[in-house]
Amino acid sequence: SALTASALLQRLEQDDVHFLRLQFTDILGTTKNVEVPRSQFQKALSGDITFDGSAVEGFTRVEESDMLLSPDLSTFLIYPQFSREEGERGRVARLICDVTLPDGTPFDGDPRQVLRRQVLRAQQMGFEMFVGTEPEFFLFERTGDGRGTTVTHDKAGYFDLAPIDKGERIRREIVNKLLHMGFDIEAAHHEVAPGQHEIDFRYAPALEAADRIATFKFVVKRVALEYGLLASFLPKPIAGISGSGMHCHLSLFRNGVNAFADPGGDHGLSPTAMQFIAGLLEHAGGMTAITNPLVNSYKRLVPGFEAPVNVAWSTSNRSALIRIPAKRGASTRAEVRMPDPSCNPYLALAVMLAAGLDGIEQRLEPAPAIQRNIFKMTVREKRHHRVRELPTDLREALEELGKDDVIAGALGDHVLTHFVAAKKSEWQDYSATIHAWELDRYLDLI
Ligand code: GLU
Ligand code: MG
Ligand code: MG
Repeated sequence: SALTASALLQRLEQDDVHFLRLQFTDILGTTKNVEVPRSQFQKALSGDITFDGSAVEGFTRVEESDMLLSPDLSTFLIYPQFSREEGERGRVARLICDVTLPDGTPFDGDPRQVLRRQVLRAQQMGFEMFVGTEPEFFLFERTGDGRGTTVTHDKAGYFDLAPIDKGERIRREIVNKLLHMGFDIEAAHHEVAPGQHEIDFRYAPALEAADRIATFKFVVKRVALEYGLLASFLPKPIAGISGSGMHCHLSLFRNGVNAFADPGGDHGLSPTAMQFIAGLLEHAGGMTAITNPLVNSYKRLVPGFEAPVNVAWSTSNRSALIRIPAKRGASTRAEVRMPDPSCNPYLALAVMLAAGLDGIEQRLEPAPAIQRNIFKMTVREKRHHRVRELPTDLREALEELGKDDVIAGALGDHVLTHFVAAKKSEWQDYSATIHAWELDRYLDLI
């Protein structure tokens, strides 16, 4: 239930809010914000704040640079205080905005718009998608002069006499801040690697889930900074130990009822669930560039660390791309295990939804579920079970994206063109760099 603009103005007054942040996300997933003082609140709430779109990476051409921020009033929240100095500056609230052209038409390059289009498409088919996310991250030490390292606080705590379990305290503080902001958190726990943590969100409608991820990352980084640590969502910061994923639990509801559950179906799943899963598997290769957008993302997608490598689904084992957790009824859902927290959450949810809906439209059938550990299968067994592999690097992922009309279509020309151009140049830059590994391995030898 969204507040009206006038009720919101009153609320800002009552709660003594001094600054309002109007937020949106660029194509690569970076949160941008325009902060306005009190005198501009009225103007901001009526959607009259413009910004120069040409200053935002991949946003617009210079000749149509004026863009409008149209706030979604249902996203209103007041930030908690992160430090004493901040408290003295006055309270800060935020609104997430849709980006429009000066005449009010939605801007094609706005990732939130890309997700809205798929949400609408689902609605027209009678569905609403709910999403629960499980972002993982590392807490690392900073050097004396504030630079980030990949030394985990756990390890440092192991060697020195610093207070024990700094990580747990910080995690609790992060969760408290998020709860204070009205987020539904299901669980928070230490992950397998030293210094690695996970916070699980209760499921929410897709758009809300995406909005929350962006804010969540900011809060985690901000709290870690207060403790002198670096919070990083890099998918694979350290070779040889677990990377950080962002599993997404997807379910479709129809008239308030979980459309994946069917006590009479195979595995307790409905035909809709099967088709949705089949669509996700069919388009897995095409969507990987979006769900795993960094050069580094592909260093996580290797065997042995509970990250998926193979395009398959399972009701039991965690080596598959899609796992169906045991719960049925209203909790029936598909856990997609490939996304990592470096993705743009709007685009990632949009392509997953587009893939699943395509499966429903085409009445696709998935290959049988695989209950064995896929990493232990031979090449022939994999072929027999129709198990393909995910792209092994960003270049291959971009190639597959280019070949997948459903995923490309869901992104739309503007986002697709800018995304691919930015990522190709990232890949070229990486390829042209001489890495330490090459020198270690070859310099003396050759
Ligand atoms: N860290 C693992 C990954 O990279 C996931 C571990 C888990 O199952 O939560 O996806
Ligand atoms: Mg985990
Ligand atoms: Mg999980």
